[in-house]
Amino acid sequence: MTLKERHDWTKEEVLEIYNMSMMDLMYKAASIHRASHDPNVVQVSTLLSIKTGGCPEDCAYCPQAARYHTDVEAQGMMTVDQIKQKAIQAKSIGSSRLCMGAAWRNVKDGPEFENVLEAVRTVNKLDMEVCCTLGMITENQAKRLAEAGLYAYNHNLDSSEEYYKEVISTRGYQDRLDTIENVRKTSVTVCSGGIIGMGEKVEDRAGMLVALSNLVPHPESVPINALVSVEGTPLENQESVEIWEMVRMVATARIVMPTTQVRLSAGRTQMSPEGQAMCFFAGANSIFAGDKLLTTPNPEISDDMKLFAALGLNPQKPFTKKSKPQTVEAEDSQYESLGEKPKWSRPTHSISK
Ligand code: SF4
Repeated sequence: MTLKERHDWTKEEVLEIYNMSMMDLMYKAASIHRASHDPNVVQVSTLLSIKTGGCPEDCAYCPQAARYHTDVEAQGMMTVDQIKQKAIQAKSIGSSRLCMGAAWRNVKDGPEFENVLEAVRTVNKLDMEVCCTLGMITENQAKRLAEAGLYAYNHNLDSSEEYYKEVISTRGYQDRLDTIENVRKTSVTVCSGGIIGMGEKVEDRAGMLVALSNLVPHPESVPINALVSVEGTPLENQESVEIWEMVRMVATARIVMPTTQVRLSAGRTQMSPEGQAMCFFAGANSIFAGDKLLTTPNPEISDDMKLFAALGLNPQKPFTKKSKPQTVEAEDSQYESLGEKPKWSRPTHSISK
């Protein structure tokens, strides 16, 4: 099967795929999946919160936003050595990628960003793919991360442009796209996806997939999260999504972005092993391992490995999709800290629900 990467999917086409009969949808997605990926290989990644809580943003799903009263305790930036120890642990349980998350609106040049750059150099030298999710970044910051050996940068679109305004009021959709654009000016791969179960319509799910698939090239990785509703956040009473919705979302993402790694992310604790197996069949080929996903619960690695054994799945080796980036040491860097204080937008909309 020859697959051409399309960037002109319409919402109607995506909805038509999403609403196919489940048997036809899974068969189509699985067939497309097999043309670009080994169906028996799933990437295992670990998501580590390197700076927790106290975030000035108002993402309605997030327990790390300072304005919500949740159980999350704010913690300052981890040291490079602490991050290294966590990376070694992650590697020992079979993770090929470490994703480091900091609860920031955007990256500010200064000692904390220098610490992140050193952590990227350190983890890349452990032969793990390094990903960061640090909020909005400028082109110079993206170039400095690339030079340190960053493999991927995560910046989720979260939902459709229309529904995004119901979930976040402190920054705009275009800011998200601008950060992705800044990452694309480097060799770093793009990881961008979203969350279902926030009260959005099916049309919003399709709208998000249209926005992601319209990016040229497609993001190398698309995480599909099911909302984990956390007490104290505005979405605390949101009902869990049904497994069928997750399978439909994964399958549709796989069909419209055939070569992307589709990542089964938050919400796996609410899914049965059989439900997760259906997602793998429908084209999910990446999971996050470890007992925590930043601050929310995640299945135990032993349960994941039991499921892998039952299904005959193997963890993906690091740098399977793209070769390992070179690390340039700080003293040899061709970029310097510009002391940037970019003016990201301050949207004027307010959340109506
Ligand atoms: S999702 Fe990120 S940007 Fe939004 S409140 Fe949470 S930590 Fe802050």
